[in-house]
Amino acid sequence: MATTRIRGGVHPRYYKGLSADLPIERAGLPKRLEIPLSQHLGLPANPVVSKGDLVQPGDLIAEAPKLISANVHSPVAGKVRGIVQKPLPGGRMCDYVEIQVDEEATEAHEWQPQEVEIDTITPEALAKLFRDAGIVGMGGATFPTDVKFSPPPNVTLDVFILNAAECEPYLTCDNRIMIEHTKEVLRGIELAHAALRFDRVIIGVEKNKPEAIKALRKAIDEFVSPVAPPFELHELDVLYPQGAEKVLIQTTTGRTVPAGKLPFDVGAIAANVQTMFALYEAAYLGKPLVDRVVTVSGAGIPQPRNVRAAIGTPVTALAEMCGGIQETTTKVVAGGPMTGTALPSLDYSVTKGFSGLLFFTNAEYPDESPCIHCGSCVDVCPMRLMPLKLAAYAKAEKFEEAKATNLMDCFECGSCAWACPSNIKIVSWIKYAKNSVRVKGI
Ligand code: SF4
Ligand code: SF4
Repeated sequence: MATTRIRGGVHPRYYKGLSADLPIERAGLPKRLEIPLSQHLGLPANPVVSKGDLVQPGDLIAEAPKLISANVHSPVAGKVRGIVQKPLPGGRMCDYVEIQVDEEATEAHEWQPQEVEIDTITPEALAKLFRDAGIVGMGGATFPTDVKFSPPPNVTLDVFILNAAECEPYLTCDNRIMIEHTKEVLRGIELAHAALRFDRVIIGVEKNKPEAIKALRKAIDEFVSPVAPPFELHELDVLYPQGAEKVLIQTTTGRTVPAGKLPFDVGAIAANVQTMFALYEAAYLGKPLVDRVVTVSGAGIPQPRNVRAAIGTPVTALAEMCGGIQETTTKVVAGGPMTGTALPSLDYSVTKGFSGLLFFTNAEYPDESPCIHCGSCVDVCPMRLMPLKLAAYAKAEKFEEAKATNLMDCFECGSCAWACPSNIKIVSWIKYAKNSVRVKGI
């Protein structure tokens, strides 16, 4: 299938071989889960449990208050120890529900299959399914999916795109799901198609995932459905940030989402592999979003893996499962190396948007030195921005100037930082400036 080539972009070293061929393993249940109530964009969920309450797997522990928010559920049987305030990765403070896991519960709960009448599902029923299950964009954006899949009345969506690019180095969790749960991902897409009836259903996957492409081709060929999603498999060039939503839409459809606009505005909607897998599980197993697959990798961990972990599992428990943290580790990142967030300590837990847990040594994540004005960051920016200027404005706290230099059009892909010979953490500075613009109401 022909694709449009993006402007800019980079070819980082991918290091996907560290974990790409390893089957998903289940993380054991830790003694205690710490579950943040703001794992999504929008308002935090409101707790509906208190200290001492007993919970069962799938019980609602915090309810979405308004339109843009997401429910939170317990992955386990256990007892609520309390609700505490702690920072999220990125620094914002948040309430966490602490659950003491039942001593009898040593493995993840087995969910029971249920019937789905696929050809009667409505857009409202789809949105309710997403909302009740607390599903958010699991590629890292964490936008509540009930809102994403509820277009305004004046909008016609004609294209669905499965974002299967997984273009971040190191990350292979979506790749493994495409290989091991191919049919389930397609069934999730079928549900969305049944409700919204797209003209095109595109699966965009980078060419560096041959096993996933083979599995998808076979599953599409064998797929029998009363609503017959019109699947198209697009094999994409390996080029970062191919999986950025606006880039993917342009590459697969030729449509440009203008600055400040949403995919809705060009009739498109895109969702990540794990998001559609979560939709399948919500519909066919009655399972809310209580776990996810995380790629644990990097030179600072002896046994990289893809681990299916309960939401709220401590970072330290995942590290132990992968052989423990090497002394040479200098940086721990939640998410991918290009767009992820450096963790200031290990006192964090797995959230719905936690695609990776990466342990880096100084060789992979060196200290920064002064800008030499080489222009490399400008050359690779897919949004035609001036990353060096944005970083300089952020450092000088000149947020109005940064905003006037199109700061808010940056989608934080990290290409500029990767290309920078001075290892300047440009994206961290841009994130800081964007946050300041929002907080100060500039
Ligand atoms: S400025 Fe933003 S959009 Fe441009 S390369 Fe850097 S992170 Fe990507
Ligand atoms: S790539 Fe780095 S060193 Fe070169 S101009 Fe941009 S910020 Fe400066």
